[in-house]
Amino acid sequence: MRQSQMFIPTLRETPTEAESLSHRLMLKSGMIKQLARGIYAYLPITQLVLNNIQDIVREEMMNIGGAEVHLPVLHPRELWEESGRWQAYGKELMRVSDRHDREFALGPTHEEVITALVRDELKSYKKLPLTLFQIQTKFRDELRPRFGLLRGREFIMKDAYSFHVDEESLDKTYNDMYDAYSRIFTRLDLNFRAVEADGGSIGGSHTHEFMALADIGEDTIVYTDDSSYAANIEKAECAIPVEKSIADMLETEKIATPDIATVKDLAEFLEKDLTLTTKTMVVKTDDGLKMIVIRGDQELNDVKVKAYFNSEILDMATDDEITAELNASPGSLGPVNSPIPVYIDYQVEAMRNYPVGANETGYHILNVNNGRDFEAAGRGDFRFINEGEMVADGSGAAKFMRGIEVGQVFKLGTKYSESMNLNVLDQNGRAKPVLMGCYGIGISRVLSAIVESHHDDKGIYWPKSVTPFDIHLITANTKDETITNTASELYDILSKNNRVLYDDRNERAGVKFADSELIGLPVRIVVGRGAKDGVVEVKGRLDEESQEVQIAELTSYLADNDYA
Ligand code: ATP
Ligand code: MG
Repeated sequence: MRQSQMFIPTLRETPTEAESLSHRLMLKSGMIKQLARGIYAYLPITQLVLNNIQDIVREEMMNIGGAEVHLPVLHPRELWEESGRWQAYGKELMRVSDRHDREFALGPTHEEVITALVRDELKSYKKLPLTLFQIQTKFRDELRPRFGLLRGREFIMKDAYSFHVDEESLDKTYNDMYDAYSRIFTRLDLNFRAVEADGGSIGGSHTHEFMALADIGEDTIVYTDDSSYAANIEKAECAIPVEKSIADMLETEKIATPDIATVKDLAEFLEKDLTLTTKTMVVKTDDGLKMIVIRGDQELNDVKVKAYFNSEILDMATDDEITAELNASPGSLGPVNSPIPVYIDYQVEAMRNYPVGANETGYHILNVNNGRDFEAAGRGDFRFINEGEMVADGSGAAKFMRGIEVGQVFKLGTKYSESMNLNVLDQNGRAKPVLMGCYGIGISRVLSAIVESHHDDKGIYWPKSVTPFDIHLITANTKDETITNTASELYDILSKNNRVLYDDRNERAGVKFADSELIGLPVRIVVGRGAKDGVVEVKGRLDEESQEVQIAELTSYLADNDYA
């Protein structure tokens, strides 16, 4: 392809709106252009790379028996009502209506559509298992679209769905997917980990997220050095304390604590370490308000709390709701005489004689103990794990790193088949809800993740598996006929076996070189003054120096150095 015919609007200045390295590099190298917040045009270089990523994903999906479909973007409201997600998906679901005021969702994911599709066709277990996938644009009205293609409101996803008559079959496809994802991300040259994750709103009990390691990553991955343990911080279980305090229970004492609003204030006032205090929070679940008590120095993990109560919604109760129910300010809450059920973290269960709010504004109670002063309705793991703490399986101290979620595999079970009546007749002629799995890869996010990990101070360098072109052929001077003729000949020859980007533009050599480094093709061939002596300059994108190579030996030189 001649660069004069491409559309690569590179920038000299560093774009100020860029929020991450990949975002900046992709703007600078003329790959994307923002149309609205979280909505981007993909320019030619991007499109070429996306095509390559999609080819790899397609190949691996078909390898494990996936059949490709292309489902509609417009989803009738009724389908989303059936699954209950028209409400539950909330504001992230983009909605439109047609001329007859019929409402539609712009698909953020396709469980409803695919379930409706197959339930009309699948009647017998004999047609199972079945795996369908598509590569398509998704819409999510993200609260905080950012980092370019990493979190867009319109983005490309590969989503796959599988259907099974029994767990064994679901397990097999889940494992096949897991392996296919590992191959895909390896081929894409991403440094990734598969981690245990939380099911989130989509449901399902068993799930792994594939995380590309990067400092910009919005997820924290918890891992240990000595084992294969890795989990998303939302999910990473805390070890249950083995030693419980055996201190004697002291007399409770109600004290005035005016002006104390936070647990830090309380610890200072009592001259106690934060670890000897507690904090009480009230959350709203499907089943009403619940009170949760954790140790004063810890942070509440809402994902764990939500999973514990198996609740579709989880919100912090508002100050008004708290006052209405407990008649006390949020800084004075506690489990003693609570009108709402109390749940304590395992750490609190192991404590003795701790201070709590008195459910009376401006008062606390000292030396409180579960079992004597209140009765917890339940105990659980409600907090975030800390770096350095022993992980739940006892395999070592937790370490943290940042990751970008590039893919996720889920076992959905019968969540959608039950709500949407997808049944088949099993071997004994009995109707059975179909078991499902769903499997996503953020294609456009993957592109950003690759850039995030493949760059230096001059620009991007593409892994060979996805590079938009193999060779960047550049004329140093378009006024010199020997140069342009030689370059044209080389372009024809090299194009037979390679994808060549030929910079034939009438630009200064310096501009072309800078663009070339920004765009980051694996190898650059410069046709310059040496052309008259049959010599060109060859430089791998990451090489320090270029090499003079005889044109007659060019193809073998490229092959020997694994450039072509
Ligand atoms: P996140 O937690 O990052 O919001 P998610 O868990 O909601 O993502 P899934 O529903 O699992 O996302 O979607 C499958 C894949 O689609 C994700 O693994 C991710 O790679 C990609 N993806 C999700 N949301 C976005 C987005 N807003 N922009 C780009 N890619 C996205
Ligand atoms: Mg996910």
